[in-house]
Amino acid sequence: MANLLQVKGLYKSFGGIKAINNVSLNVQEGEIVGLIGPNGSGKSTFVNLICGLYHPDAGQVLLKGDEVTGLDAPTMASKGVARTFQASRPFLNLTVMENVIIAALLHEPLLQAEKKAMEIIKFTGLDKYKNIKCASLPVEIRKRLDISRALAINPCLIMLDEAMAGLNPKEMEEGIELVRRINQEGITVIFIEHVIKAVMALSHRIIVLNQGELLIEGDPQTVINDEKVIKAYLGDGFAHVTN
Ligand code: ADP
Ligand code: MG
Repeated sequence: MANLLQVKGLYKSFGGIKAINNVSLNVQEGEIVGLIGPNGSGKSTFVNLICGLYHPDAGQVLLKGDEVTGLDAPTMASKGVARTFQASRPFLNLTVMENVIIAALLHEPLLQAEKKAMEIIKFTGLDKYKNIKCASLPVEIRKRLDISRALAINPCLIMLDEAMAGLNPKEMEEGIELVRRINQEGITVIFIEHVIKAVMALSHRIIVLNQGELLIEGDPQTVINDEKVIKAYLGDGFAHVTN
């Protein structure tokens, strides 16, 4: 399979904090990659660097073999790099449908954007909320709206930053199912998640960050049984609980 994303020697510091410290990794077209690690390990910073919100201090990012290092967020979005934020950020005074239309306008004129937004909210199961203003939506619906907006830019890569945080078990199952369907549409997925059950259910591969560094990457079983991962993130009780 071809590499969709290649990251080479990426660095980002904030003052004295090395938030991303010499991270190199590849993501292949069509993969679902789980990105995990303790709080503060650099997961969101990594997403912010790839989508162009942050400028790396050093290193290289290639998308489909083309150098995209340091390009800004609108340019990365136009190249099909979409992301959701850990804290949901819809336009609160607009409806669900209007929020998705705005994202779709990146590539389409208004009429097509409306049609596309309708297709997307059906796909994500939000059609019954389409005329509701976002300010009155519960968190799980906002998370799904974030994903809908990301889909509206025709992504080749979608990065979900804790898109399933705070969901109850049933909503979590639905979230897992939605991510699978997104991937079946041919979209590559990087998702940050703390609920290991969801990570194991979805990931083709898991990448672990710790203190800004790549601790390990590999197939899900190998990674979650790795001593370093248990020590840095999962905790000693974990192996016992999952066996
Ligand atoms: P994670 O998403 O894994 O919890 P983050 O990427 O949010 O971790 O943060 C990694 C480190 O970088 C943390 O120490 C955090 O405080 C710091 N950090 C992230 N973003 C900023 C920022 N905009 N300004 C200053 N420090 C930041
Ligand atoms: Mg984060």
